[in-house]
Amino acid sequence: MTDPETSKFTGHCLCGSIRFECNAEPEVQACCHCDDCRRATGGVYGSFVFVATKALHVTGEMRAYEHQSDRGNTMTKDFCPMCGSHMFESNSKSPKLRGIFVGVIDDASWFKPQAYVYASKKLPHTPVDPEVEAFDKMRW
Ligand SMILES: [Zn+2]
Ligand SMILES: [Zn+2]
Repeated sequence: MTDPETSKFTGHCLCGSIRFECNAEPEVQACCHCDDCRRATGGVYGSFVFVATKALHVTGEMRAYEHQSDRGNTMTKDFCPMCGSHMFESNSKSPKLRGIFVGVIDDASWFKPQAYVYASKKLPHTPVDPEVEAFDKMRW
């Protein structure tokens, strides 16, 4: 992927206290239908782009919430303590990557998931793109 539009992008939380800039192209783009992502986002699925951790520059004080994934990895969710927006997610299994919640990206019109994961948990009326491959569990 070498699209210049995605090689540098910015974002912020609802109240603006947390801002970020990403200087690298997303390595993975995906939506996750699992229960944890639904709870965390309040939506019918979680949507993420994963970037190199070192390419992400954040300003503002975030808070983090840690929980265990079904595979026993520690998942860390970073959120704004003022407005509650979920910003980032990291997985202890892949410390070099950080997931950005697509909804906090300023212009995410380029977002195109490569995969739906945990499709076995999909709510019956969640809209999905039939051209995107769906996996019952985790893809990576
Ligand atoms: Zn905020
Ligand atoms: Zn999930």
